[in-house]
Amino acid sequence: MYICVQKLELLEVFYSKKKLAGFLDSQKEIEKTIGLVPTMGALHEGHMSLIKEAREHSDIVVATIFVNPKQFDNKEDFDKYPVSIEDDIRMLETNECDAVFIPSEESLYGADDYRAFEMDLGYLDKILEGAKRPGHFNGVVEIVHLLFEIIHPDFVFFGMKDYQQVMVIEKMLNYIHSDILLFRCPIVRESDGLAISSRNRQLNRTERQLALNLHLTLLDIKDEYKKTNVQTLIDKHTERLNKLKNVVVDYIEIADSDTLQHLNEWKSAGKNLVLIAVFVGKVRLIDNLLF
Ligand code: AMP
Repeated sequence: MYICVQKLELLEVFYSKKKLAGFLDSQKEIEKTIGLVPTMGALHEGHMSLIKEAREHSDIVVATIFVNPKQFDNKEDFDKYPVSIEDDIRMLETNECDAVFIPSEESLYGADDYRAFEMDLGYLDKILEGAKRPGHFNGVVEIVHLLFEIIHPDFVFFGMKDYQQVMVIEKMLNYIHSDILLFRCPIVRESDGLAISSRNRQLNRTERQLALNLHLTLLDIKDEYKKTNVQTLIDKHTERLNKLKNVVVDYIEIADSDTLQHLNEWKSAGKNLVLIAVFVGKVRLIDNLLF
């Protein structure tokens, strides 16, 4: 009989900025490079793809788990965001992450002399996720800046599932922290195509089935493109999805993949990006596809 023993690497778990900084200083002293994977926890294979990418490119991989209240425009959404710290730690351990930082809100934002980092995100903050979730991207750049100031990574890893977020981070790195290299990691999907998300845990069985419509709609648009114009496709699929019970489209947009500006005419292959945000029951899901 064989007993399968999973190899667990040593994962350092830090709740304090000071201890984390001490650990990282000792690594930097011996010229180790640091790769950072910021997350809000409730970890899954999408997050692990970032950890694996970070593992390939960095000597020391640091994940962070913090459900950042400042990037939620809706208190109920924040309150019901899934939390599974123990499972997260186990998953990071089996995926050879070196350290995880799990700060409290107080330790990040609570100091008397704390000043929020702000930057002008231009139109990026006013379209799509920026328009639908006011303040969201300001909250994102504030926490990412804080994490950069604590961790000083050489590399940072973000998922293309949050396409607009990646553009916001790119803008931030151009403005400040230009020494940090950004890696854009592809979307990881379930075998049936649903983009993996922490929020999928909030779906019941029927909603999980309905959620498949996001990816199917992206694929339909990719198939139908060129045969019809951009707006007709958006309208047709919005109408079709809105007819489904418990499904409400927040937006379907077809944009230039470089600028996220609405397309009036198709671009060359690889430059057309369809982005979708849909409420399935009370759960808001997003996805996108480049074609
Ligand atoms: P979150 O915990 O949702 O804030 O996500 C943390 C990071 O994981 C972000 O850079 C996300 O874009 C990335 N991520 C989440 N889901 C996926 C996925 N299915 N595929 C690739 N990256 C993902």
